[in-house]
Amino acid sequence: MNSIDNDEMKSTVLISTDQIQQQQEPIIIDLENESTSTSPFISSSILVNDNCIKKTNQIIHVASSEPSSSKQINNHRTMGYLSRWEKEPETYYRTMILNSSGELQESRQCWLRKKQDENGKITIGCFLCNKYQMIKNANGKINPWATYDYSVLALNKIKEHGLYNEKHIEAQELELNSKSKIQPDWKTTQSMIYTKHQQSIQNLMFTAIFICQQYHPLNSFEPLCDLQEKNGVNLLPAEVSGINYRNDCAALCFLQYTARILHQELVEKLNQSPILGWLIDESTSRTCEKSCIVYARYVDNYEQKTDFYGLINMNGDGTAQHIVDKLGELWDEDGIKMKKTCWLATDNASTFTGIHNGVAAKLKKKYGIDYLELNTCAAHSFALVGSHAGKELVGDGTNRVRTREDVAQFESNLG
Ligand SMILES: [Zn+2]
Repeated sequence: MNSIDNDEMKSTVLISTDQIQQQQEPIIIDLENESTSTSPFISSSILVNDNCIKKTNQIIHVASSEPSSSKQINNHRTMGYLSRWEKEPETYYRTMILNSSGELQESRQCWLRKKQDENGKITIGCFLCNKYQMIKNANGKINPWATYDYSVLALNKIKEHGLYNEKHIEAQELELNSKSKIQPDWKTTQSMIYTKHQQSIQNLMFTAIFICQQYHPLNSFEPLCDLQEKNGVNLLPAEVSGINYRNDCAALCFLQYTARILHQELVEKLNQSPILGWLIDESTSRTCEKSCIVYARYVDNYEQKTDFYGLINMNGDGTAQHIVDKLGELWDEDGIKMKKTCWLATDNASTFTGIHNGVAAKLKKKYGIDYLELNTCAAHSFALVGSHAGKELVGDGTNRVRTREDVAQFESNLG
């Protein structure tokens, strides 16, 4: 702004009476262009004074576009740029901007631009024509407004460009079209990309969970990922910064993290529940590893629910004391209040049901929960009934029992 003001000042100073009188070259005034009282030339009483005009040999020029005079215009109008032109309604173009609340609203901005070369020569141009590279006019001729090289510093020419130049009008339409399509701001774009990235990781995790749920080996993770990618599913690239996320190790990590989060969520619910119950059973894996599987019963939002709580490695020791100790460690770790426990369900094994040394009895003693109720599992009991029903006496007077032949055959057929 300073430079513009200086120019304006300079032009006013330069066109003082003394200077005009001293100048040898004629001053050209475009009366048609500067017909308003706001014009710097007209506003100067010195210039419209007939005496002055006569004295200084000024030429009153009407058509500024004459080639013979254009050179002179260039020479003398360099001082004639006025920053107030930038406030003329014709120098405004319409655009859309996002306001502080993120809504798109119309805004008017000035397209007039001033360019000054190293010799101080000022030319003007149009921001819109430049932005949309309207290098040529509709008639095929060069559009100097697009390169800020228009040299006639005259308001009427500026207004003419803003109102009638076809290429300018075209640029104005392009501006409105491109801006009115709601362009997301940087923050939104960033969050969208972040979400896309998140989505690709989430898809990898879903794949790992699917494999786990379907009892597929974890090394089928990679081919399943490849297939999904071929089907257009957005997945994290096979390698990110030299790290591969599509192998059995990665799948296991995904599952472990997922399990940890699920466990945390469950613990929160258990701690909010007024009462708790536990379903426990021992199991032996194919590799003969003893473990104990635990399910929790709780109340969530007035609804009774059952969820997988954990799998405890018994380290080969399946005694009641060891089970109680291991369970205690897990409950302590999660900050579960055992006083809330009022129910336990197990199979019929004496390890759990033993009156004095069973798990239930030991838990009652350890946590002071005499009100703990023990239910043996109906499915286990029913299986026992079925198992006993399939037996018969050997019949040799020894009271030994054996599995009935047809049941044995049936069981062997089942494998
Ligand atoms: Zn333009």
